[in-house]
Amino acid sequence: MEPPVIPRRASRAVRVGDVVIGGRSLVSVQSMTNTPTSDADATAAQVDELAAAGAELVRVAVPTREDSAALTEIVRRSPVPIIADVHFHFDRALEAIDAGVAKIRLNPGNIADREQVRRVIRAAADAKVAIRVGVNAGSVVSRTDEASRQAELARPMDELMAEKLADYLGIFQEEDFHDLVLSAKSHDPYLCVLANRRLAELWDYPLHLGVTHAGPAETAVVRSAAMLGALLIEGVGDTVRVSIAGDPVREVGVALELLWSLRLRPRRGVELIACPTCGRLQMDLLPILDEVKRRLADIDAPLTVAVMGCVVNGPGEADHADVAVCTGRGRAVLYCRGERLRTVDAEEIADAVEAETRRLAEG
Ligand code: SF4
Repeated sequence: MEPPVIPRRASRAVRVGDVVIGGRSLVSVQSMTNTPTSDADATAAQVDELAAAGAELVRVAVPTREDSAALTEIVRRSPVPIIADVHFHFDRALEAIDAGVAKIRLNPGNIADREQVRRVIRAAADAKVAIRVGVNAGSVVSRTDEASRQAELARPMDELMAEKLADYLGIFQEEDFHDLVLSAKSHDPYLCVLANRRLAELWDYPLHLGVTHAGPAETAVVRSAAMLGALLIEGVGDTVRVSIAGDPVREVGVALELLWSLRLRPRRGVELIACPTCGRLQMDLLPILDEVKRRLADIDAPLTVAVMGCVVNGPGEADHADVAVCTGRGRAVLYCRGERLRTVDAEEIADAVEAETRRLAEG
């Protein structure tokens, strides 16, 4: 029996180009380029790679005028809506809106002048551009004087983040601007959970979830999964970014796997189930697993394939998989949807699994 689908918190629907964040839409996946944005060719190429991997929205950093000057070309070539990430300089936001981006990200911690924020809001409203207001634990504490800094540091950070966000959102409410997405990020996954629960209680704007500065892949994936999993299973969160130091394309695959695992999106491609290996193993399974994974990578059909090391769990997994192999000494038993098909030699395993999986995918 299929487990129930996670009920989602009711949030406003906010349009970002042709993507809707929140409302009844599926949780969307976004990532961020790490090329210099001023290099329009390199950035447009990376946007294409991210989109091909499954990113539905791509954010680009816009620290300088040269970066905002490249946006028109990047937006023109992009298959997905482009989001401008703006810090410190409100005029970068105005330039990005002129260049045709679909969304702006503002940080209350570094664009605080209320008149400047109003100008960005009015330009965004005129151009029908959404705005993400994203507070970061690293930039939320006042730096005006040491006494207030110490006082703020002594407070619960999730409370402080929500309070700073509430103050900033007051400007948007005065301007009657509601095409907003909110975020509260930290490198600390647990703090992210607490802060986003607060946001979900206080506002119905859609939430962008992510752990910021999550680190290299080994830690970033675990920390992101811990934070995103905790909130998404409570129905909180409308768009996600997994942040991993390095090639951003990996972020997209991790985010999709997370959403598939929580049944928040229909799976695309083959789900590989594999024995973790133990002392019962009678053949070198890992090269076979790598080969099977490589051969099935282009199949879009949502099929389950199990590569198992022995008879302890193999036949049981075969019952639930579309295609399964249960290996033994020099040979393996091939199954299709629980039915035992035949025995194959070790060197034929990858061929047999691929052929059977492609037959189902095409059928
Ligand atoms: S499937 Fe068999 S070999 Fe693989 S981990 Fe389980 S018991 Fe060990």
